[in-house]
Amino acid sequence: MERVVVVGAGQAGASLVAKLRALGHGGEITLIGEEPFPPYQRPPLSKAYLLGEMARERLFLHPEAYYAEHGIELRLGERVDRIDPVARQISLAGETLAYDALVLTTGAMPSRLPAPIGGDLAGVHVVRGLADIDAMVPEFAPGRRLLVVGGGYIGLEAAAVAAQKGLSVTLVEAGERILQRVAAPRTSDYFRALHKSYGVDIREGVGLERLTGTGRVEGAALSDGSELEVDFVIVGIGVRPATALAEAAGLKLDNGIAVDEMGRTSDPHIWAAGDCASFPHRGGRIRLESVPNAIDHAEAVAANILGAGAPYVAKPWFWSDQYDVKLQMAGLNTGHDDVVRRPGAKAGSESYWYFRGDELLAVEAMNDPRAYMVGKRLIEAGKSPDKAALADPQSDLRVLM
Ligand code: NAP
Repeated sequence: MERVVVVGAGQAGASLVAKLRALGHGGEITLIGEEPFPPYQRPPLSKAYLLGEMARERLFLHPEAYYAEHGIELRLGERVDRIDPVARQISLAGETLAYDALVLTTGAMPSRLPAPIGGDLAGVHVVRGLADIDAMVPEFAPGRRLLVVGGGYIGLEAAAVAAQKGLSVTLVEAGERILQRVAAPRTSDYFRALHKSYGVDIREGVGLERLTGTGRVEGAALSDGSELEVDFVIVGIGVRPATALAEAAGLKLDNGIAVDEMGRTSDPHIWAAGDCASFPHRGGRIRLESVPNAIDHAEAVAANILGAGAPYVAKPWFWSDQYDVKLQMAGLNTGHDDVVRRPGAKAGSESYWYFRGDELLAVEAMNDPRAYMVGKRLIEAGKSPDKAALADPQSDLRVLM
């Protein structure tokens, strides 16, 4: 294995190249990114960085010198146009680059509102990169009217920042409840109440019909017939895995770039990891949109490129910060038929434990890191606690282990 080329310089790409070197790979490594910045953390973008509480330099995963010091060629601001799987080379800006192993860590791209309904008006923002946040920060002046479209993590975290900065915030969620895709109803209830207490106007089961304005957004028409005056809009209506390069190269797709348990695509010399890739999981196939998965998957793939032959076993976990609440989730609650509530030790701290029969599937903890840690360990060990003991706040969580 001489030359490894990695396309996509986000969390997964950065973790993968670092792991290759840590595992002793002595060949060439090239990491290519389309954005002009060295790999950076995305989670703070919709939280501390947007709030203005985190300096830009702290976002970067490594100092820029790190890459040269580790013999990693970092090519920024460059877009890969094509993969030629037969010749085993990629082309970028008229140049070709040969590989022995190619890794796609292209991530996911935010869905946008279509132009015919006003998606291309000035003042309509998405949240993906540093440049997106830098463009929206000047909009965050007290008293301005923000419309957030979508009640997922992006929409809710942005709404929390705006409310704390004194903006007037309306959030519309087309589905029947906020956080529908990622969390169970009780957690949605908790966050709805939290946002209301900060004055955010949350409207569920309400979609956006169109944005209006000449040149710049000025208003919005909603599916319930109501109309709003707005100063700017943040769109958080989900993401799509970035698969265009893989598709053009004829790689197999299945809700993203389909990889096997080693992280290999349908071409034996091409691998994929992170948000762009779907992988086998418990007899099915999943794709996770999360930083912990980007890191773990990329590190597993790095080892397998070097011949480890170790199947990737995902341990899903997620977190979100809104106001002074930290939501931590472990496991996947898909298919649950029972939820146990456990009150936490402090006001506002509680956790929800999702079961299928007696099997613990997932835990969602609000300001209760202990409950989260115990739940995560139990899920990873395949153990399920007694439901009655769990619901009793007097019972010791350590005993449940
Ligand atoms: P998301 O979790 O898919 O949520 C998007 C929400 O928008 C869904 O509830 C969706 O409802 C709703 N929606 C879609 N079209 C709409 C419309 N036209 N009008 C109103 N609502 C609409 O995605 P996201 O919040 O945009 O986040 C993007 C990605 O960043 C995700 O991968 C997310 O996990 C990640 N992220 C994670 C964190 C974190 O872990 N803390 C923070 C920020 C971002 P339907 O389901 O009914 O379509």
